[in-house]
Amino acid sequence: MRIAVLKETASGETRVAASPETVKKFIALGASVAVEPGAGANAAVSDEDFAAAGAQISKDAVKGADIILGVQGPDPAALAGANPGAWIVAGLDPFGQRARVDAYAAAGFEALAMEFMPRITRAQSMDILSSQSNLAGYKAVIEAANAYGRAFPMMMTAAGTVSAAKCFVMGVGVAGLQAIATARRLGAQVSATDVRSATREQILSLGAKPIFVESVAGIEGEGAGGYATEMSEEYQKAQAELVSAHIAKQDIVITTALIPGRAAPRLISDAQIATMKPGSVIFDLAVAQGGNVEGSKPDEVVVRHGVKIIGWANTPAHLAADASALFARNLYNFLSAFWDKEQGRPVLDEEIGNAVRLTQGGKVVNERLLG
Ligand code: NAD
Repeated sequence: MRIAVLKETASGETRVAASPETVKKFIALGASVAVEPGAGANAAVSDEDFAAAGAQISKDAVKGADIILGVQGPDPAALAGANPGAWIVAGLDPFGQRARVDAYAAAGFEALAMEFMPRITRAQSMDILSSQSNLAGYKAVIEAANAYGRAFPMMMTAAGTVSAAKCFVMGVGVAGLQAIATARRLGAQVSATDVRSATREQILSLGAKPIFVESVAGIEGEGAGGYATEMSEEYQKAQAELVSAHIAKQDIVITTALIPGRAAPRLISDAQIATMKPGSVIFDLAVAQGGNVEGSKPDEVVVRHGVKIIGWANTPAHLAADASALFARNLYNFLSAFWDKEQGRPVLDEEIGNAVRLTQGGKVVNERLLG
């Protein structure tokens, strides 16, 4: 069983899908690991570190590989020489990169999309969306604080008092919860909103103030596996009114709202931005999925009405070392949980296998792509 670790080629991608720790653990399972030269260079892992963990460093890492690990989906052309039916284990962006998925099928690979990991308790340690969103929520607040020309905490000084920043977090999933916690640690006064009623308790438990649409019902219970869906027009109208009333008093807004397989919901309009104080900062974590904020652009600081609107195409790539270490562990936790000692390779079960498998036997087989 040969496992190949790719050097990422996508622009702006700094992460790597393995760490010296996971290389050692794969070898302990009986696999051999080959790493492309420089694969960890942007994540503070040198070729020497990988070699010391037992990996072979090779430009031909893919040659003869049975499992190929990536952060993002590799270019199908870069996989020539891999074994027939080899697994591609990465964040494959199945809806955004459909042509690439079709190419994996045509080449006979078994592509496993890690973002399709089901949200069940036993898969939590394999969930790349959670591990990466958590870090992204943290970094969004740090970046917003950095771009803000004032302080976050209240300070009483001999020269006078600096008031605490008011921070509003929209979307309280994994990223939003970490954004609330980070903003609180920095000393901001934090409020937050979501469409899922279950988040109200979580917001309170982090010491923030819940701001919820009361006139129209949101999503009760766990809905579609804990994910949000598109809201009714009536809800959207009520939410827009609520945001208009609240946002003018905020200094920092962090938006994180996503709907799987769809464009991100628009939560803040240009007219609402115009009501904010000049010098305020909005960080749009959904910018790569179309954006929660009107006018936000990936990797650009857009200034509207004196308000800075920030958003990165790939936020976890801005904390490459930690993001890689956690991503690498997610992949190891996934493959090792299914490792069959006798066969010397992982054998997936139906629940998780069918959820993440996109292609097999030359065809696209995943329900979410076929339906
Ligand atoms: P996400 O990234 O899909 O969305 C971020 C947040 O935006 C969500 O809380 C969502 O409800 C919210 N949102 C969507 N549309 C909105 C709108 N119009 N207005 C305001 N907010 C909106 O979500 P996520 O971070 O992946 O987490 C979703 C849920 O899944 C959470 O409850 C999380 O704890 C749970 N989860 C479970 C597991 C597991 O059990 N394995 C793993 C990860 C997450």
